[in-house]
Amino acid sequence: MELRQAPAPRLSGPRDVLLRVDTLGVCGSDIHYYKQGTIGSGQATFPQLLGHELAATVVEAGAEVQSLHPGQRVAVDPLVACGECDQCRAGRKHTCRKQQFLGNPGQLPGALVEYLVMPAACCSPVPDSLNDDQAALVEPLSIGVYAAQLAQLKPGARVGIVGSGPIGLCTLLAVRAQAQASVYATDLVDERLAVARACGAAWTGNPRREDVVAAVRRLEPLGMDAVFECAGEQEAIDQSLELLKPGGTLLIVGIPELDRISMNINLMRRNELRIINVRRQNECVERAIELIAGGRVDVRPLITHHFRLEETARAFELVSARRDGVVKAIIRISPEK
Ligand SMILES: [Zn+2]
Ligand SMILES: [Zn+2]
Repeated sequence: MELRQAPAPRLSGPRDVLLRVDTLGVCGSDIHYYKQGTIGSGQATFPQLLGHELAATVVEAGAEVQSLHPGQRVAVDPLVACGECDQCRAGRKHTCRKQQFLGNPGQLPGALVEYLVMPAACCSPVPDSLNDDQAALVEPLSIGVYAAQLAQLKPGARVGIVGSGPIGLCTLLAVRAQAQASVYATDLVDERLAVARACGAAWTGNPRREDVVAAVRRLEPLGMDAVFECAGEQEAIDQSLELLKPGGTLLIVGIPELDRISMNINLMRRNELRIINVRRQNECVERAIELIAGGRVDVRPLITHHFRLEETARAFELVSARRDGVVKAIIRISPEK
């Protein structure tokens, strides 16, 4: 990890904005690139600028930008879609065939910088009731909001969250807000379970210390309506399938470190389980802002650590080692306002 001086980017396109980056959240996917150098076929090569969970302030707006003005605080959708391919035309920007994502190898440089140029269409104004830390949490929360939408939960549904890292916790917050669901959450780190309870989980358990499937079954003998797998690990997939009721839905939100994972096909067939894969989010940023601004979701329990830009390496090491009860580490980039 290295801090470098570089010339500030200049605004060129009429529909772009020049942003000052205020805060940036360290994401699990940044850590995948930091530790393994890859996610699936995405291969990072040094120097690779990471980061895509940002709160920013508009410094300058292109001539055709009407929705934003200098001084406006925004949350940023890190995906730049082409707007023209079959996926974009079908309303699936998140699987755009020519997508460019902040901090993804071979796509756009990351947001771990002081200044950044983005299309205005990627920037959503945030009200002053959200501070910069909350605004940086909009991006991961939008993933939880999207996953919860895909599950089509009925009010009061029974829901499992397997893996209570930032994305698992954001999903927990979203399913609580959208369906008043009863949530059963697991994680290998006890501090994360405490945060899950603060976020409204009805029950939490650590698979290192107990058989979480049996424990949930004792409380909910019929099983879960939906389980969100947010760990990306074989054991978590196995537990998720076993927690589901017949006809239940597994949502795969976690990013596995391996390219292949096995699933118990007999269990899946006999119980006619449905599987939904979740790719980031689609058009859920505004909804995420509304949920935080309206007080229906409180992301603050997730924010456990703060670092300055010069301390970025320490932030990545901490998140990578899951030490010190870290959930979301926020890097402050612009001077505190
Ligand atoms: Zn992320
Ligand atoms: Zn496209």
